[in-house]
Amino acid sequence: MQIQENFSLKPYNTFGIDAKARHFSAFSNIEQLKELATHHSPLTTFILGGGSNILFTKDFDGHVLKNDIRGIAKINEDDEYVYVKVGAGENWHQFVLFCIQNNWQGIENLSLIPGNVGASPMQNIGAYGVEVREVFLELNAFHLQEKSTQKFNLVDCEFGYRESVFKRKYKDQFVVLDVTYRLNKIPRYNTSYGAVEKELEQMKVRGLSIAAISQAIINIRTSKLPDPAVIGNAGSFFKNPSVSKERFEDLKTQFQSMIGYENFDGTIKLAAGWLIEQCGWKGFRKGDAGCYEKQALVLVNYGKATGGEIYDLSEEILRSVRNKFGVDLEREVNII
Ligand SMILES: Cc1cc2nc3c(=O)[nH]c(=O)nc-3n(C[C@H](O)[C@H](O)[C@H](O)COP(=O)(O)OP(=O)(O)OC[C@H]3O[C@@H](n4cnc5c(N)ncnc54)[C@H](O)[C@@H]3O)c2cc1C
Repeated sequence: MQIQENFSLKPYNTFGIDAKARHFSAFSNIEQLKELATHHSPLTTFILGGGSNILFTKDFDGHVLKNDIRGIAKINEDDEYVYVKVGAGENWHQFVLFCIQNNWQGIENLSLIPGNVGASPMQNIGAYGVEVREVFLELNAFHLQEKSTQKFNLVDCEFGYRESVFKRKYKDQFVVLDVTYRLNKIPRYNTSYGAVEKELEQMKVRGLSIAAISQAIINIRTSKLPDPAVIGNAGSFFKNPSVSKERFEDLKTQFQSMIGYENFDGTIKLAAGWLIEQCGWKGFRKGDAGCYEKQALVLVNYGKATGGEIYDLSEEILRSVRNKFGVDLEREVNII
């Protein structure tokens, strides 16, 4: 198996950061992964998917393992559901399109999210009122130290808002090999979030369909978010923070236009983009690092920014939001 040295990661991260990996290999099955895990155990490893939620702040002095495990297979079905097992290296949006073609409902709201299937449970990706945990059945993951495969069900994954057990307790321990999703044969559409209904009206959609919802989401996303092929970015850089109801009411008396959504546990989720915008960052640019002009939550690389420059900008943003609102933002992007 090929092990490349001093390998540029620029084409492998959507921020377009020119960091180098000491070693780089791609694997497309578990045997290759086992071989890599055996031969290179002394080096720190990093599992790479589509590179759309990471920021390299320096060269990576270890072994980057790119997960290229492919394959999509319907493994079971009953009256209500189909069960589809997907290789971690499959592109997420291509999988969404495959489901739409087959009339399998459940992930159309997650259309056009960059990256690969393997990171979808890792991050518990979400958009437009849907999170991947709602269609998740189980996954197989390889433990890099023990060199064995384990199955994780919904409970095992401990999903939270852009969180899972793989980002906390088991950070950097497991490689997701494949994910099985449970998709609906009988559609349960969710169009209540954000501008989805308005977009469907504008599209003059008569009968709702999976394809129409997907297209509405694609239209909204392309009008708001920068295309990483044109401007480097990793989507939302920060998570939306939550505060207690009392704290929200207090903030609301000072900042009347503040936006908040009630969580299941009664806390209030604030819009991080709004907080950042109120601090004057929207459209800000310093060198090639910036805050996107249409969406303050997205930090961008206009060309030659280093990961360090993007990180420093994120620090300044964090500090100013804390000073103005007394609220701590948390980064959603994985910093390496
Ligand atoms: C323009 C844009 C829009 C975005 N919009 C959204 C959005 O709406 N909702 C949302 O949730 N996210 C969004 N994102 C973030 C990103 O697309 C998701 O987090 C995506 O799931 C990352 O997948 P990836 O394959 O690129 O992961 P990577 O960036 O390669 O990796 C992310 C993390 O997962 C780990 N990882 C990746 N694959 C595996 C694996 N097989 N096994 C173990 N660990 C693994 C990596 O080590 C890393 O820690 C957006 C990003 C961009 C650029």
